[in-house]
Amino acid sequence: MNLSEKRLFLFDIDGTLALGDKLFEGTRELLEYINRIGGSSFFITNNSTKGGADYVKRFRESFGLETTPEQFVTSGFMMKKFLLETYKDKRIYVQGTKSYLSELSSEGLLVTDEILPKPDCVVVAYDSEITYEKVSKTCLLLQQYSLPFYATNPDLRCPVDGGFIPDCGAICDMITSTTDKVPIYLGKPNPDMVTLCQKLSGFDASQTLVVGDRLYTDIACGLQAGVDTCLLLTGEASRADISTTEFPPDVIFDTVGDLLQAIDK
Ligand SMILES: [Mg+2]
Repeated sequence: MNLSEKRLFLFDIDGTLALGDKLFEGTRELLEYINRIGGSSFFITNNSTKGGADYVKRFRESFGLETTPEQFVTSGFMMKKFLLETYKDKRIYVQGTKSYLSELSSEGLLVTDEILPKPDCVVVAYDSEITYEKVSKTCLLLQQYSLPFYATNPDLRCPVDGGFIPDCGAICDMITSTTDKVPIYLGKPNPDMVTLCQKLSGFDASQTLVVGDRLYTDIACGLQAGVDTCLLLTGEASRADISTTEFPPDVIFDTVGDLLQAIDK
């Protein structure tokens, strides 16, 4: 792979370019480099709780970086887009936060958290308001009817101060253990995120690089999309994980700064 031929860069955010309010050294310079060569940067993230506008604000206020909402492709956005294309005017059962349900309704989608009347599909999103009653309802619904089952993202855990808390994948694992139903995930590693960015930017697969810190989402996404992948060791994966993973990256660097050095030499 020739890194200097890459024009479309698809970045994971947390653990890859930044952590919390801290922008990693080299991120700003790499984004400037991509602008200079006429390339495109997109931020593909499995966080379904924030939209493009929230991210533009976070990048400006926390990092002093100017971006546009279109540069942020989230699993929540991919779900919304998919539902608008496929389930417009259909009944969509959603297990998620109140704000996610109202965000989907505001697009004109017929969203419900009731089992009856029978919905046309089941959607599970990251849900910080989860209750035993909500999960039980979803499980019963999936067993009573054979409904298409979708979820935003397969991440098992999110890093917070002091450790990890359950993410959408862990919530879905509980549902799968109970019902034997496995969701289709719209976020990474679903390659549609990559395809969408290629369509928006006009760059092709050979010009695309997916950059991330997690093997089973970020790197798997690039592999499924048939593009080159770069693992950075500033987040979840360690060098020891690489020998055992089923998702081997094409290149590995310690930091985003090391990636820039390798491209711009
Ligand atoms: Mg990450």
